[in-house]
Amino acid sequence: MPDYDVIVVGGGPSGSSAAAFLSRKGYDVGLFDKESFPRDKPCGDAISGKSVRMLEKLDIIGQVDEAPNSAARGVVFSSPKGDEIQIDFPENKAAEWRKKRGEDASPYTKPGYVCRREVFDNVVFQAARKFGAEAHEETPINDLLWEGEKVTGVKTASGDEYTADLVIGAGGALCPVARETGAYDRDPDHWVAAIRVYWDGIKDLGDDIEIHFLDSVIPGYFWIFPLEDGRANVGVGMLESKIKEDGHERDLKDLLEKAYEHRLFKDRFADAEKVEGSQRGWILPLGSKKRPVHGNGWMLCGDAASLIDPFTGEGIGNGMTSAHLAAERYDEVSDNGGPTRENLAPYEQRLRDETWDELKTSHRLQKMGQHKWLLNFVVSRAANNPHVAETISDMLADRDKKEELTSWWFYLKLLFK
Ligand SMILES: Cc1cc2nc3c(=O)[nH]c(=O)nc-3n(C[C@H](O)[C@H](O)[C@H](O)COP(=O)(O)OP(=O)(O)OC[C@H]3O[C@@H](n4cnc5c(N)ncnc54)[C@H](O)[C@@H]3O)c2cc1C
Repeated sequence: MPDYDVIVVGGGPSGSSAAAFLSRKGYDVGLFDKESFPRDKPCGDAISGKSVRMLEKLDIIGQVDEAPNSAARGVVFSSPKGDEIQIDFPENKAAEWRKKRGEDASPYTKPGYVCRREVFDNVVFQAARKFGAEAHEETPINDLLWEGEKVTGVKTASGDEYTADLVIGAGGALCPVARETGAYDRDPDHWVAAIRVYWDGIKDLGDDIEIHFLDSVIPGYFWIFPLEDGRANVGVGMLESKIKEDGHERDLKDLLEKAYEHRLFKDRFADAEKVEGSQRGWILPLGSKKRPVHGNGWMLCGDAASLIDPFTGEGIGNGMTSAHLAAERYDEVSDNGGPTRENLAPYEQRLRDETWDELKTSHRLQKMGQHKWLLNFVVSRAANNPHVAETISDMLADRDKKEELTSWWFYLKLLFK
């Protein structure tokens, strides 16, 4: 008998969600993480509507709602030229979308949150524990155990071995399960590098998340996301292939410094204070390139499966969605042939059905967003015409409508609005 039904490598939102969904169904789950919780993770800390739906499925949305966070009420965009638009997230939109999808009403109607990952991830990790997963903290996994072509367990850095019917790799961008199974693929056209830093006391911090396509930062973007108590998550990110381009290398730290000095922000940062030790960089595997996400005895979830939205940089929602789909599939096959490569194939299919169209659209938007003239044009049209601003807000928020944003017809029509 194996030690566990399922071993989950990585206790971030993807791994902890997978462990929580599976434990709640009664499976024996071992959840391994190299760190101990609560722990920080470099991120913009934006928890989108997709994540909110998964938190509802796990019945832990109330805990996130009550944790220190700020409810994002809208978004501000600025163009390289310096025009700005502010778009509210309509309060009742979340309820409207839920109804459209035939889902139950929820008492929590906030469209999303900005919640520090130190807080957010701990809520999901502790939920997995509460549902019965056995947590192994400060236990890095270095290797997989194999029987022929089947993964049968994991080996820790200190040499201990644990066996399982299924191993789920949710160890983030450098997940050992993705690397050991050959799924890992570092293509600089499909990976972003980003830096995050916390600041206290930035002037004019509202309830909006701010995304600035500054001249000095493009083809990346600069963000300011408000947190609780006047704190903000600030950062900059860029495609790895653009960081090293045409023989020269851009330095993200320099770009960040330039952003603070930009005429739009100089005054806002003048009296603000950087939270010591909070500047940290990390990498984002984007969902614009597919990688294998299952095999004999293993599945990948979240960043390990490369599912981050290429336009917005959001990965938590797709990570938790993949965890839900992986848990459902294991439940279907555990007593019905087991987690063989063939039996797990529907996981990959369902994951693509759920995410691929939106990821493709976002990839096209990411490429269009590298054209300064286009950003200048769209933001200035929207800044001067509230109807255009509202249309774009609806399109960004609704995955069915988002695709229209990649059609040149839409931009041609904007000329006449
Ligand atoms: C700067 C930045 C800004 C971002 N902003 C946003 C945002 O605002 N909103 C959003 O939705 N997404 C954002 N993302 C993406 C988001 O952070 C990821 O998509 C998300 O963390 C994926 O969750 P995960 O559980 O798959 O992986 P992770 O959160 O990376 O969790 C992986 C876990 O695995 C553990 N682990 C790693 N290796 C091992 C090992 N060998 N053994 C055991 N454990 C291991 C780690 O300790 C970690 O706890 C951002 C990313 C970056 C870098």
